[in-house]
Amino acid sequence: MPKTRTLAIEGWFQDAPTPALIGTQCTSCQSIFFPPERTFCRNPGCVNDQFNDRPLSTTGKLWSYTTNNYQPPAPYVSPKEDYEPFAVAAVELEEEKMIVLGQVPDQVSIEQLEAGMEMELVVDTLFEDDDNEYVVWKWRPA
Ligand SMILES: [Zn+2]
Repeated sequence: MPKTRTLAIEGWFQDAPTPALIGTQCTSCQSIFFPPERTFCRNPGCVNDQFNDRPLSTTGKLWSYTTNNYQPPAPYVSPKEDYEPFAVAAVELEEEKMIVLGQVPDQVSIEQLEAGMEMELVVDTLFEDDDNEYVVWKWRPA
């Protein structure tokens, strides 16, 4: 049986047709939040608790990057039995100018990355179990 494509984190991104991170925007001061804030506005000068979901920029500039050489603690689940290091990118979103972290797909080697380069958001496998393929957003060179 084919595995069910399952979002690894519900409500933080959309898988299709255009993959995008989902942020929230305060209806009063217009501040944008990611991860999505749905309780109260974190702008100290604002007392609003109403937000609209909005998809964020799917491209941005590579601000910084590194390799995770050690396995992160739980709830991290390694996609393979033996932990393999992976690259992590911090990308400044094109429009919102917020920095959002994400893994870099396995197919991209860290040698291909260079600060300032254009990156784009993709949805890719995080890990799999017998029934599900868990997917998450990742950043790859545009
Ligand atoms: Zn606000």
